[in-house]
Amino acid sequence: MNFSRPEQLQELESKSEFDLLIIGGGIVGSAALEMAASSGLSSILLEKNDFASGASGRSTKLLHGGIRYLPQLQFGLVRESLQEQKILIKLLGGLYKPLKLLAPIYKDDGFADLPKILQYNFISSFAFKLGLTLYDLLGSRTKKQRHINFDKSKTREMFPLLKQEKLKRSFIFQDAQTDDAKLVVTLLRNAVEINNATAINYMEITDIKKQSSRYQITAINKLKGNKYEFFANNIIAATGVHALPGDYAVKSSAIKFSGGAHLILKDDPLKINGNGILLPKTEDNRIMFVLPWFGNTIVGTTDTETFSGTLDRPYANTDDKEYIIRHIKKYFNVDTVEYISSWSGIRALIDNKLTSSKNVSRGHFFNNIDERFIQISGGKLTGFRLIAKESLENLFNDNFKLTPLSFIDEVLDLSNKFNENDLKKCFEHYCIAKPTDYMLRRTHISWFNNSGGKDELSKIIENFDIDGIEVDTSEELYDEGLLNETY
Ligand SMILES: Cc1cc2nc3c(=O)[nH]c(=O)nc-3n(C[C@H](O)[C@H](O)[C@H](O)COP(=O)(O)OP(=O)(O)OC[C@H]3O[C@@H](n4cnc5c(N)ncnc54)[C@H](O)[C@@H]3O)c2cc1C
Repeated sequence: MNFSRPEQLQELESKSEFDLLIIGGGIVGSAALEMAASSGLSSILLEKNDFASGASGRSTKLLHGGIRYLPQLQFGLVRESLQEQKILIKLLGGLYKPLKLLAPIYKDDGFADLPKILQYNFISSFAFKLGLTLYDLLGSRTKKQRHINFDKSKTREMFPLLKQEKLKRSFIFQDAQTDDAKLVVTLLRNAVEINNATAINYMEITDIKKQSSRYQITAINKLKGNKYEFFANNIIAATGVHALPGDYAVKSSAIKFSGGAHLILKDDPLKINGNGILLPKTEDNRIMFVLPWFGNTIVGTTDTETFSGTLDRPYANTDDKEYIIRHIKKYFNVDTVEYISSWSGIRALIDNKLTSSKNVSRGHFFNNIDERFIQISGGKLTGFRLIAKESLENLFNDNFKLTPLSFIDEVLDLSNKFNENDLKKCFEHYCIAKPTDYMLRRTHISWFNNSGGKDELSKIIENFDIDGIEVDTSEELYDEGLLNETY
């Protein structure tokens, strides 16, 4: 069975009952679908927008080794994250990209992640060094993988535009990146085409009714307005920042929202040369990342309390963009900063005031809604395999595992300019329904081309089989902050 939307809809129409329903096509839901289906459960995943259109396609794209847990002395979590990197490198192929990250230590600018006392000048570089030594030990890293100390001149050689004034020294350590949205659709294609799962986008679960030992599910096809009903024996809700549907809304996890915005700069204007930099401290005491991204550069930050737009489609507002540009200028010798696109994302953080801390682990939280129904909230992209595994093991008495993913080369090879063959492949194997699915999450056309890929749009629409649905692509790109006006 192909992972095309028409075939997936037919599959749903031909079945009336599933062992497992997963609500939400972000990283957690998609990984859970792949593991459930590969263990033989008849499984369906429904996503109300496009796959990876929530936090899972709007992240900083880091598969962290957990260095940020060190200042909180959470050594077990650091070890676990580093261990997870070792597993993911084998399973994700080219979707796991090793990355060297520079941590520059400046006088009077200790890392925001460190406790205040460790931010003082005389202690900050010692504290960082100690942390990285521990990081290498916890990850049982070989000599080649361990962190390296850089003096000022070595730092300047490798990062010529990074400001040298007040720079004391720096460290380079190993971390990793992925392409979040492509990882999600690759997991789904594996689940569907190899393990016979069903996955459909633009299909919103609007109601769930318990009927003796199973659940009656109502879903609406958001592109055509027609309704589907079927039964599920178990439910995992991986709904991110969204509440549970229907009467179950009142049982939703107690969460708060945390946002973050990013800019994409064309090519390598900050001369980071394929490496990343952890900028130590923003004016509101956060850290900021500068990262390479398929030949371009991402700069951004997370952990903001506000966001613009809607939960479904947040965007980076003018203040967010100016804030990022201000910090680029604080740390780099550049007079102007030009960006080609921007995005914003919102994640769910557990509201500790309302949630018993014993249920919270690694920032994610299992909410037992009913005997055979759980909601999973929070967590990180990096921990997706473990979170999905734990979700399944909460419901089924089995041991779930993620197998190495296929089709990675195909999804990574898709061009970032319109290409008829790529579009055809996306219809047949990556379940696209709207031009923006192709432009934002299967390729980087909107991110990597000026004006949200506007110049490519007429060719894309000409070749797009929109199957009688009404879509306003320019309005969607405008809502994402990628176009200045609709047309
Ligand atoms: C700005 C930012 C940067 C981040 N950077 C990193 C990073 O670099 N590394 C890292 O490890 N983590 C990072 N994270 C965290 C990470 O992105 C999230 O933890 C992760 O993506 C959450 O995945 P999810 O599947 O739980 O949720 P989501 O990706 O939000 O998916 C939930 C999905 O459920 C769907 N849904 C909701 N209700 C329904 C319904 N009734 N019917 C059908 N579908 C429904 C939504 O439409 C949505 O697509 C970042 C987060 C943010 C916001």
